[in-house]
Amino acid sequence: MTITEILERPDHSRFSIELLPPLKGEHIDSIYHTMDALMPFNPAFVDVTYHREEYVYREVGPGLLQKRTVRKRPGTVGICAALMNRYHIETVPHIICGGFNVEETENALIDLDFVGVRNVLALRGDAIRSEGRFKSEPDGHGYAIDLVDQIVDLNKGIYLDSDLKNSVSTNFCIGVAGYPEKHFEAPNPGSDLRWLKKKVDHGATYIVTQMFFDNQRFFDFVDRCRAADIHVPIIPGLKPLTTAKQLQVLPQIFHVDLPEELVKAVDQAKTRDQVKEAGMKWCTQQAEELLEGGVPTVHFYTMGKAQPTVEIARRIYGTVQV
Ligand code: FAD
Repeated sequence: MTITEILERPDHSRFSIELLPPLKGEHIDSIYHTMDALMPFNPAFVDVTYHREEYVYREVGPGLLQKRTVRKRPGTVGICAALMNRYHIETVPHIICGGFNVEETENALIDLDFVGVRNVLALRGDAIRSEGRFKSEPDGHGYAIDLVDQIVDLNKGIYLDSDLKNSVSTNFCIGVAGYPEKHFEAPNPGSDLRWLKKKVDHGATYIVTQMFFDNQRFFDFVDRCRAADIHVPIIPGLKPLTTAKQLQVLPQIFHVDLPEELVKAVDQAKTRDQVKEAGMKWCTQQAEELLEGGVPTVHFYTMGKAQPTVEIARRIYGTVQV
């Protein structure tokens, strides 16, 4: 089933999650443990992030460094297939432009189609950490919208090789990212919104937002989207703050503001558990207000730590959600 079909069902679960593949060398069991803990809350679907390559430098002799390319969290496609098989749940692999040329993208989409994945979140991806700014591959996509175009083409049976005859059409439902507080590279919110609208006009059928900690930012964003003629479902992304360090790290990485009230609550906490409790309390209140405000579902970024999301789900949805 596609995400838009799920969201159209009046009785659909208002809880969805994003998981990270385990670090290379770790077992998939960590994902299963997370899923086992979250399944009683009946998630509507599960996103699995994609992590591009990074450069690491290894000393190979005195003063000699060797540059190596590694992917620290491979496994997105395999995890999606495994979760669908084990939990009978719809999965949404994240597909990024960075690190792929168009041929590799096409082949990845064919793999996904063959394993029965019906949904993808089409993203540009960020810069390689050591590079500072995003660079596409030669013959790769520079923006998410170009990736959306390629998926839409494949949905029409249009492959890169125009000599292919009677080629099979895929049937992917395409989600894209939106930024209530503006994407950090966009010159202004209006410009960011125009590109978002283009992604939707080109074929994206729903939007998932970057995390935010002030619901008003989300509600304003939805109003601006609707005024700009963007009428697809907009799913709010929430992350429970779990450590005091995240007061600096989250704005730095995700370019989001943290409200003064939340910062004060974390500053006043005396122990790690109290910090976690302040973060969970904030996230629970955010989710409850969003649900009252009629959002299609609340999407939780677990970021490799299931426990706070499990606890928040328990507080909001009770033991088992129907
Ligand atoms: P785009 O939509 O391409 O936008 C990038 C910037 O360019 C924006 O400033 C936009 O305004 C502008 N723009 C867009 N199109 C054009 C154009 N044609 N010409 C000029 N300017 C344009 N990253 C990962 O690596 N893996 C993940 O799994 C992952 N999951 C994510 C999930 C969510 C819900 C979100 C919100 C982000 C995720 N990211 C992930 C991060 C994402 O890759 C980065 O935020 C990236 O910098 C932008 O991706 P995008 O798809 O929004 O890019």
